[in-house]
Amino acid sequence: MKERKFIPYGRHSIDDDDINEVIKVLKSDWITTGPKIKEFEDELCAYIGTKYCVAVNSGTSALDIAVQSLDLPKGCEVITTPFTFVATSNAIIYNDLKPVFADICSDTFNIDPADIKKKITKNTKVIIYVDYAGQPCSIKEIKEIADDFDLYLIEDACHAIGAEYGQKKVGNFADMTIFSFHPVKHITTGEGGAVVTDNKECYEKLSLLRTHGIDKNTMERFGPDASWAYDMKYLGRNYRITDFQAALGISQLKKLEGFIQKRNNLVSIYADYLGKIDFVRLPIVKSKVRHAWHLYTILLDSSVNRDKFFKYMRTENIGVNVHYIPVYRHSYYINQFNMNPKDFPNTEDVFEKIITLPLYPKMNDKDILYICNKINNFTG
Ligand SMILES: *Cc1c(COP(=O)(O)O)cnc(C)c1O
Repeated sequence: MKERKFIPYGRHSIDDDDINEVIKVLKSDWITTGPKIKEFEDELCAYIGTKYCVAVNSGTSALDIAVQSLDLPKGCEVITTPFTFVATSNAIIYNDLKPVFADICSDTFNIDPADIKKKITKNTKVIIYVDYAGQPCSIKEIKEIADDFDLYLIEDACHAIGAEYGQKKVGNFADMTIFSFHPVKHITTGEGGAVVTDNKECYEKLSLLRTHGIDKNTMERFGPDASWAYDMKYLGRNYRITDFQAALGISQLKKLEGFIQKRNNLVSIYADYLGKIDFVRLPIVKSKVRHAWHLYTILLDSSVNRDKFFKYMRTENIGVNVHYIPVYRHSYYINQFNMNPKDFPNTEDVFEKIITLPLYPKMNDKDILYICNKINNFTG
């Protein structure tokens, strides 16, 4: 029998029409700092329903300039979740601020508003919340805390483009919301990210921070009537995305609703099969949210050895994964902050039992059936 190809936990869906859009830009005059970037930003704004967008070269860069734009004194505290990709809290450290973790909820694995409240001190200035796996956090409760304590809100929605809370899309709640266009995410530009906001001043600052803090972009300095003068106002970076990536993003964005639909269909097939296996706990979806399903994670009963299960599935060519190793467990964080895992009982409990199953739009029903059959046959 022919061996089955390895099924990764996530991957991009790029078709010929995406590729053609990239080629058109590569043959044009502007391959970076050109018109496609604004077009991509405008399309993102139109999709999400926000006023402003700054597209950059990664989700990590987007987080970095979002935090930088707040211009907070060194050492201020930023509360975030430890159950995320390290980039979320690294952005706090890049800016000489102090990450403070709040524990997660045991049902959604999103940051727990009650624990946020406990972690607030007079030095707390920001909350960065992550919509884990694509499910929006308890945004109403988080916003109430931010209002009561006068804190900025940054939403790391790298998992959650297209997700909704109430009837509104993620991107309309925090002061700034971050997206990533890495290939495992919903839509891709190879590498890429964006910050969306409704605040004009914030938008203008982010635009400069993306490009060295310089107040005139390349197009404004181009051609016979332009002046040589420009001013560097902030210590910005070069976090620019290219025009051919933006063209890919525009083309991908047109397919986003279809991708989310397909992810939803695959998730319901998973639920049908896995619901019958007694050592598997399915993900819980809250009412009044639209889950974007970046990740499909299950919890294994404590009778199951997760690491054995992981090895077994990998041997069957199924790219299971663990999202996430709690951030405070990484050696850099241990060396710098030495936080006590016992302070995060829900995070620790979930971390021990969780496993990510493959989910991406190019999978089909047969792939899901294959994976579920293998899970069902696991004997420990
Ligand atoms: C992917 C991801 C990021 C970083 O995005 P990049 O585009 O890979 O830099 C940040 N936060 C979360 C939660 C992510 O999943």
